[in-house]
Amino acid sequence: MTGLTALDGPALLRAHGLTPRKGLGQNFLTDPATLDKLVQAAGVTADDSVLEIGPGLGSLTRHLARTACRVIAVEIDQNLIPILQQVLADEPNVHVIHADILSLNPAEIMGGEPYLVVANIPYYITSAILRHLLESAHRPQRLALTVQREVADRICAAPGDLSLLALSVQVYGSPRPVLRIPAGAFYPPPKVDSVTLRIDLFPQPLIPQKDLDVFFKLAKAGFSQKRKTLRNALVGGLGWKTNDVEDMLRKSEIDPMRRAETLTLDEWRLLTAQFLVENTLKRGN
Ligand code: SAM
Repeated sequence: MTGLTALDGPALLRAHGLTPRKGLGQNFLTDPATLDKLVQAAGVTADDSVLEIGPGLGSLTRHLARTACRVIAVEIDQNLIPILQQVLADEPNVHVIHADILSLNPAEIMGGEPYLVVANIPYYITSAILRHLLESAHRPQRLALTVQREVADRICAAPGDLSLLALSVQVYGSPRPVLRIPAGAFYPPPKVDSVTLRIDLFPQPLIPQKDLDVFFKLAKAGFSQKRKTLRNALVGGLGWKTNDVEDMLRKSEIDPMRRAETLTLDEWRLLTAQFLVENTLKRGN
């Protein structure tokens, strides 16, 4: 527990002549008990370097600063930088960067060291941020992302309900919900409740690193046409003949009439390996 008291978000914004920007997903979390729980659920310790995305008014940043070894906080909104400087003036282990996280290379900002990501991010940028971090050459060890509940449910889905978003997270790590945050805990309250997802990354992705591009190409093709069988989606998505797709699926022991959302990651792994074999044979002919 940090023993920090609440920031007065509305007063801070008023003092700087600002209002929350909806377009940047600015719903601020200021309740100290919730922030303490969030930092604890994220498993942050005194040994950790933390990348915080979207520090906003700096409320979560203060809690991270009191718990972690150092915090690099990346905020896109130039107007919030003076507030962050004021709120974080007594936190020497915090470094604020004014930038769009999607334009930064994680290896450069974290100096190549192991790091955790903690972020309360707008829903419209969730998948772009996940892709940016998980596909980077310097992946975090763990992420704790506070996202709207529906997005959390989609990311944690099991075979039967899998989506491209779920696969693109679950190939790198295991996501699990660790904290529910009601809409009323935010200023201003969003329309939906939020969930903090903890994603602990595997030492290596479940599909070999060198085959990931092919896996994503196949998965995109597989999910490209909703409610179609995997066979028909792959025929359309890959531009292959129906017989060739059926043959590849059968050799991978996958019924061609199944849908993409039912395949386990292990089945995607087998399909990726088989695709690579078929492609090599095709090129040889
Ligand atoms: N972390 C704060 C909190 O919990 O109160 C603020 C969370 S608010 C939901 C999201 C924050 O992300 C806002 O401050 C917004 O300006 C910032 N943001 C939005 N897009 C961003 C981007 N691409 N890069 C960095 N920050 C971004």
